[in-house]
Amino acid sequence: MITHTHPTLPEFDYIRPETLVEASEFLAQHSNEACPFMGGTDIFNRMRDGILAPKFLVDVKNLDGTNNLVFNPDAGLTLGAAVNMNRVIASPEVRIHYPLLVEACQSVASYQLRTRTTIVGNICNASPAGDAIGACLVLDGNLHIHGTSGLRKELLSTFFVEPGKTKLKPGDIVTGISFPLPPRGCVGKYIKLGRNKLSDLSIVGVTVLGSHEPNLLSGFHFRIVLASVAPIPLVAIEAETHLSQHTVTLESLRQAAFLASEASAPIDDVRGSARYRKLMVRNLTEIALIEVWKKLQK
Ligand SMILES: Cc1cc2nc3c(=O)[nH]c(=O)nc-3n(C[C@H](O)[C@H](O)[C@H](O)COP(=O)(O)OP(=O)(O)OC[C@H]3O[C@@H](n4cnc5c(N)ncnc54)[C@H](O)[C@@H]3O)c2cc1C
Repeated sequence: MITHTHPTLPEFDYIRPETLVEASEFLAQHSNEACPFMGGTDIFNRMRDGILAPKFLVDVKNLDGTNNLVFNPDAGLTLGAAVNMNRVIASPEVRIHYPLLVEACQSVASYQLRTRTTIVGNICNASPAGDAIGACLVLDGNLHIHGTSGLRKELLSTFFVEPGKTKLKPGDIVTGISFPLPPRGCVGKYIKLGRNKLSDLSIVGVTVLGSHEPNLLSGFHFRIVLASVAPIPLVAIEAETHLSQHTVTLESLRQAAFLASEASAPIDDVRGSARYRKLMVRNLTEIALIEVWKKLQK
């Protein structure tokens, strides 16, 4: 990685297409030299640090429907890609029906930055540390994508390939993300361990969503996603399965937290060692599971 000692932005051309079709065509024609952007809080940093130097930055905000936040009591929630995190946090419908999304967005950076940051940007950046990704995964997010062949939908659960890489193809623009209605009475929790309370990426992030599920042996369904401990956001499947097949007790919750920690594959970096991260996955998953479990019993 080349890091500039005196960071400045490299020169680029700002492109503002009028339509999604125009935007996709431009991005496909300039696939090696053009990037789409939303809030720009990731991409401008990477350009400043010399990691990326696109010739064209394509502003895909303000294109058909990307600014909409729509809640339908039968179908669920659709967030346009350009909806910034402060709008998500302030939305009465999101606060009532998807409080976990609010909690996740509130953990990102600062109020000022959240006037720019978007959930879709957080997802498309494909950092394993993305704080909003866990909530979007446990809430079964479905991405709306416009490409050169038109519109399609893709499950978020199969979207990530490796750090910084997704299944998006040249010309693809994520126009929004939709969520079905969450399970009735579900309880969510996001715990972020960072070096400070504001503006730092997570050392470990644990998202838990619990709900009553009479069809499972235990009668409960727990979803668990871990941030910053694997190349891509990690669904702790063994831990989830354990809790669906065993009576939920403090003991089985602790065992699930252990399984989550075992599934994680963190690295050492400036924020924390792999060993510390693994231990923290166990501790924080246990705390999150117990909190969710207690609330589910009320
Ligand atoms: C000071 C600071 C603090 C931060 N703190 C946090 C934090 O606590 N937690 C956290 O998770 N992140 C943090 N970040 C990172 C960043 O703010 C978030 O990831 C944010 O959600 C990115 O959203 P954005 O709209 O700004 O993305 P952008 O920078 O616009 O885009 C990010 C990437 O996604 C691609 N992209 C964007 N929109 C689309 C689209 N519609 N279709 C296809 N590709 C697209 C871009 O090409 C780019 O590669 C921080 C950044 C800064 C500068």
